[in-house]
Amino acid sequence: MSTALEIEDLHYRYPDGTVALRGVNIIIEENQCVGLIGPNGAGKSTLLHHLNGLLPEQIQDKQPIRILGKQLTPNSLLDIRRKVGLVFQDANDQLFCPTVYEDVAFGPRQQLANEQDIAERVAAAIKRAGLEGLENRPPHHLSGGQKRRACLAGVLACEPEILLLDEPSADLDPRGRRELKELLTSLKITRIIATRDLELVADICDMVIVMDNGQVASVGEPRVTLANQALMDKYGLEVPYSLRSPVAPVAPPPASTEAPPTPPAANETATKDDPFSAPSGDPFTA
Ligand code: ADP
Repeated sequence: MSTALEIEDLHYRYPDGTVALRGVNIIIEENQCVGLIGPNGAGKSTLLHHLNGLLPEQIQDKQPIRILGKQLTPNSLLDIRRKVGLVFQDANDQLFCPTVYEDVAFGPRQQLANEQDIAERVAAAIKRAGLEGLENRPPHHLSGGQKRRACLAGVLACEPEILLLDEPSADLDPRGRRELKELLTSLKITRIIATRDLELVADICDMVIVMDNGQVASVGEPRVTLANQALMDKYGLEVPYSLRSPVAPVAPPPASTEAPPTPPAANETATKDDPFSAPSGDPFTA
């Protein structure tokens, strides 16, 4: 297996002075599916933005990031952006064309000249993201979940080798979430998913990175790391439901010797003492 991504001692401070990354070290192998988790403000989005060169504002020659064997520099930036697709946390940051088709075609148009090739890429990505029939809709007429799929389709249409996703399951209903899971599992590329959806990480990721305060706090196998109650508590996270230790079954109450009350027969009148009579004062039983 070769290395997809290598980050060595990455620091970043926003222009307003907020320190967001404080010496991040990460190695990710090709085709791994990695969950990036941590409390709000841990630096997850900031890190993703560094991996496709959106940050820092000015890429330096000494940027401590290697992607698919290539150092991220001002010269390699365009090539790396072509290989690393980012699905933004807020779909509205990504969708700006008059129709879904045009939005999904935007990336391929930067890569391909032939309209037929572009149309094939778009059709395949729209099918994968489950958006067939919505090609001519304005993106702002889509539901939250459909917008998220449109963003994903736009990135998939560029055929990235590394896919970065920022909170991809937010806004999705249970069926949409299940379909997203299947789609992400079916992609044989490197995937890095920043998410609060720890069940998703437990289900589909083969490595989890816990971030806190701009640093990597822990790296591990998802089902081991996420089941670690002390670790989850320390970083303000919760052990996902599916990994909680089973609670001892509650003993049934001792069997009563009294016969249970029987409902009145249809021709009997319910009385006040009768447990099946309507409570007094019920406006519907005057
Ligand atoms: P996460 O994705 O883990 O919630 P972020 O990467 O969004 O964390 O944020 C990391 C830190 O950077 C936080 O302290 C956040 O307030 C700060 N931050 C994020 N975006 C900006 C920005 N545009 N300007 C200044 N500070 C920011």
